[in-house]
Amino acid sequence: MSEKSYLDRLDAAREDPVWDQVAGIEKVKDCSRVFTASQIKTMSQCLYQWYLAYVLKAKEESKSAATARGTMIHKTVADLHAKHAWNHWEDLLRVNVQAELDSIEEQGVPWKREVDPEDYFIADSAGMIKNYVDRNRDAQTIGVEVPFRMVLTHPRTGTSYPLVGTVDRLDYDKTGKALTIVDWKTGQTPPDDAFLARDYQMSGYGLAAKNGIFVMPDGEPLHFDAYPERIVWYQMYNLLPYKRAGTKTNGTKYVKGDLRGEPEIDVVRRESDYDAFRADICNAIRGIRMGIIWKSGAGFPGTCAMCRYRSACVTGEYVKSGSSDLADMVIEDREEGVSNGQSGR
Ligand code: SF4
Repeated sequence: MSEKSYLDRLDAAREDPVWDQVAGIEKVKDCSRVFTASQIKTMSQCLYQWYLAYVLKAKEESKSAATARGTMIHKTVADLHAKHAWNHWEDLLRVNVQAELDSIEEQGVPWKREVDPEDYFIADSAGMIKNYVDRNRDAQTIGVEVPFRMVLTHPRTGTSYPLVGTVDRLDYDKTGKALTIVDWKTGQTPPDDAFLARDYQMSGYGLAAKNGIFVMPDGEPLHFDAYPERIVWYQMYNLLPYKRAGTKTNGTKYVKGDLRGEPEIDVVRRESDYDAFRADICNAIRGIRMGIIWKSGAGFPGTCAMCRYRSACVTGEYVKSGSSDLADMVIEDREEGVSNGQSGR
């Protein structure tokens, strides 16, 4: 997402009148300060990365081809559902690839590694999207890229913060009662059980269904008031057929044209998982408000390798992002040295 559209969404989220209907909003001391799911995700990867991105507003040092491809695939799949363009997926893909490449060129951020756009962005994505179309054109989808608003409350202290985010896709089953949340994932490697068990994003989606409000495409709020029947990690890469025969690391043989795996991976959450999510995120937010930031990503293999702020982390030198307003209002808390104002709703 471009910086401008991120800011537009953040502004819309702060001002959204549906906040008055969100459960627990009366416990929030200042509703002008919202936290976004993308911030939470960055915080969970590394607090210092969050600090560089959202407080110092450092510009990303490089662009990952995998991230760019993920953005294009997301956009194309969302358009397929929203525009019912199942028979025109190839045209959509080409338009979205070109738009993303143009936008990256405009930002002037260098690629982390050079790739052949025709191969990497068109051919591979086309393989995934063609199979996605075949499997999903009849899905009972009620919305894509659906924003949610919720209040996150610490299970023991009761401290509450407003949280906003977007779910990729909402489906009802044929009874019209059971909700499924689908999150499109475009990375190459499927998650292992340990990763899925602690993934904050999935917990946030489940809680949004139970405690929050979805803002549907027609602007109407949807109160689901229950946990979703299913939360699905949709591994798009598994829809890319093998180009030649071979053997997987677990000994399974495959032939040319076989899919890499089942794309729908169910994520299971219990009440205790939701409590842990609430406590961890509220504690992280409180720590940040008190200025407790450390290079937490350094303890996890692979996190620093994927980080877009590695030079800034090591040298302390960085180029500022173009926006002077990218960061959330939580920054003012730190600068003022006070926990909040009393000017909420
Ligand atoms: S390089 Fe590692 S420790 Fe430094 S900001 Fe990035 S993820 Fe955090």
